[in-house]
Amino acid sequence: MATRKTTSRRTAKTAAVPKCSTCGGTGETSETVRVGARKGRETDSRQSALCGSCFGTGTA
Ligand SMILES: [Zn+2]
Repeated sequence: MATRKTTSRRTAKTAAVPKCSTCGGTGETSETVRVGARKGRETDSRQSALCGSCFGTGTA
């Protein structure tokens, strides 16, 4: 066997990863818990939910 070409060797370049604009790259969105169907009053409690745009990956 001849020596293989190793041109496809990847150097770690992580700058090209686009961040998700919805969660900012965290993969989670913290949304304020609202109470009441009409008033929609915000409570102090916040729940962190999985980002629906990137599904928790944090990348767009
Ligand atoms: Zn996201």
